[in-house]
Amino acid sequence: MHRVIAIDGPAASGKSSVARLLAQRLGFEYVNSGALYRALTWHVLQNGVALHNREAIARLAGAARVQFHDSRVLINGTDSTVHLRDNAVNSAVSLVSQVPQVRAVVNGLLRGYARERDAVIEGRDIGSAVFPATAFKFYIDASPEVRWQRRAAQGEHDTITARDELDSARTIAPLIIAPDADLIDTSALSIDEVSREILRRLHGKGLAQAG
Ligand code: C5P
Repeated sequence: MHRVIAIDGPAASGKSSVARLLAQRLGFEYVNSGALYRALTWHVLQNGVALHNREAIARLAGAARVQFHDSRVLINGTDSTVHLRDNAVNSAVSLVSQVPQVRAVVNGLLRGYARERDAVIEGRDIGSAVFPATAFKFYIDASPEVRWQRRAAQGEHDTITARDELDSARTIAPLIIAPDADLIDTSALSIDEVSREILRRLHGKGLAQAG
């Protein structure tokens, strides 16, 4: 039985850095589910599909051949990675990710991947909807000011507030704190401190390191 560590939280809460470091320390694979939603969004934009045309979005996502590793995503053999943080993708991703078929495609990919290996998977609904049975769930948060500063420090014009509102308000798999998730506020903590805190809690829950 392979293990999944779910790391959920709002935009720019530090999920990616923490999840990657944690995976390294545990010898698990790291999976960025947001990158999958971003890649499918890029694919939608590349094909000139209007964002209100949910049927066309669903068809395109259903037909896409998706390969991924870490934060690298290929769609129909084309590497989308350099486009994943484009402004156009930032602005459109929360709308595309609301389409149920898009979520079904991503969930299928994540579950298939986790059947084969231990993984730290970060996103919005990993503990609440995709892997509800995992015993290892964390919800990472930080104050809006800190999150905004983190994005600005990365030189990105990200629409984090708008994305958080859409991601939290949607009816399908919204961003919520799973009732059995451990909550960690990262506002005053470094990536290293957060990852150590999660490791400490994981050991408390009986998780042994891989390999
Ligand atoms: O994690 P990141 O900010 O890159 O995610 C981009 C977007 O993908 C989110 O704003 C959200 O709309 C969508 N997403 C999602 N469910 C996930 C991961 C990301 O809906 N598990």
